[in-house]
Amino acid sequence: MSRDNKNNMLALLLTGLCGLAAADGYNPEALKSGRADPSMHLQQGSDQREAQKINDVIYKATGFGNTFMVVTEQGNVIIDTSLPGMAPKHKQLLTAVSDGPIHSLIITHGHGDHTGGVALWRQPQTKVIAQQNMLEFLSYQKRLKNLFMQRNSAQFGFDLVEQPTALTTASAAANMLPNTLFDQRFDFTLGQQQFEVLHTPAETYDALTVWMPQYKAAFVGDLFYRSFPNIYTLRGTKPRWALDYISSINRVLALKPEILLPSHGEPIIGEANIRRELLRYRDAIQYVHDQTVQGMNAGRDVYSLMREIKLPAELDVGEAYGWVSWSVRGIYEGYMGWFDGEPVSMYAESPQSVYPDLVALAGGADKVAGLAGQHLNQGHLVKALRLIEAALAAEPDNQAVLAMRLQILTALRKASGNLNESGWLNHGINQTYRQLQSQP
Ligand SMILES: [Zn+2]
Repeated sequence: MSRDNKNNMLALLLTGLCGLAAADGYNPEALKSGRADPSMHLQQGSDQREAQKINDVIYKATGFGNTFMVVTEQGNVIIDTSLPGMAPKHKQLLTAVSDGPIHSLIITHGHGDHTGGVALWRQPQTKVIAQQNMLEFLSYQKRLKNLFMQRNSAQFGFDLVEQPTALTTASAAANMLPNTLFDQRFDFTLGQQQFEVLHTPAETYDALTVWMPQYKAAFVGDLFYRSFPNIYTLRGTKPRWALDYISSINRVLALKPEILLPSHGEPIIGEANIRRELLRYRDAIQYVHDQTVQGMNAGRDVYSLMREIKLPAELDVGEAYGWVSWSVRGIYEGYMGWFDGEPVSMYAESPQSVYPDLVALAGGADKVAGLAGQHLNQGHLVKALRLIEAALAAEPDNQAVLAMRLQILTALRKASGNLNESGWLNHGINQTYRQLQSQP
């Protein structure tokens, strides 16, 4: 990429993911039609002009990753800090409400859309509070930094961009580290306000919930959002345990919250509303877990279970962000690992290694692309895409095959109401465009 282009991309990155996503054409038909929950959109919060007041002491800046502020007479407490690109705006919105000293930053878990503003908010006296597993979790992400950077870029709709150096220097990284760790529970009182910080592992094993008993307010991080959870994320993750979600949601339910403040999307107000939403969420996760385990014990293969396990209507919490079939596979492989019980899978030759032979037998890549076209016309989009992957293994530069790939991926993206699926389809579309353009 040219220097100018690179600078433009960096400028976009600094303005936040929302700008980039739009620049990258992230706009599938199904999202426009409103099937997906708007709170999962990357653009969320980009038009916010002032912080949202939740009650007398709690304020929220909205983004893909909300930032919360609790105002006390002895300093303020910040809960989560959003993405690096959004944090400056969030800080501006919340500081306009109160510019008191930052007593504590509480980070609900070590994902980048929660830790992005830690270095920005932190002052010399600030306690940065996290569950103790965050240290290991941050080093795991650092160990695989290059791969995660590529995967995040693809999933969230921008192509490989170097991170701005200010955000990756050793001092910025050190500045992000928590200095106050706890195991199960950490309580403190500040200017009349009580805080109970509880370990509630779910999406990550360092996840926490902040409970303010005086207001019955629970800041739950990513334990709840308005979509089936990402029990597996396509970006790549260690296993996320469905049963951890269940016990952590039970821990929050037992508090009987009247204000529920997730780090993505809008708050839920009222004990009965919260109880109904959390119970449905918990039961949806339990259902998918139990169906998967039952299928595993019945000897079913992972693809059959991915196709067959669907949420019953009363547990349908939507799939704008997480997707049931990915979670089924995440649970299956979380429990059993990668081996599928087929002798051939023990060896290092991939299924793709025999595609060129099969394509040759079928009469060449053009023939296979023709058959893919028929599947596309009949609405069998994934079957069509499988055939194209085989054709490309045999003839990687074949224009007709690449053009068919582009058509299939575009049709899939138009139909997608899921943010992560759309991201990866966009990535495939961009990749195929580039391949087509680089041909003479
Ligand atoms: Zn998050």
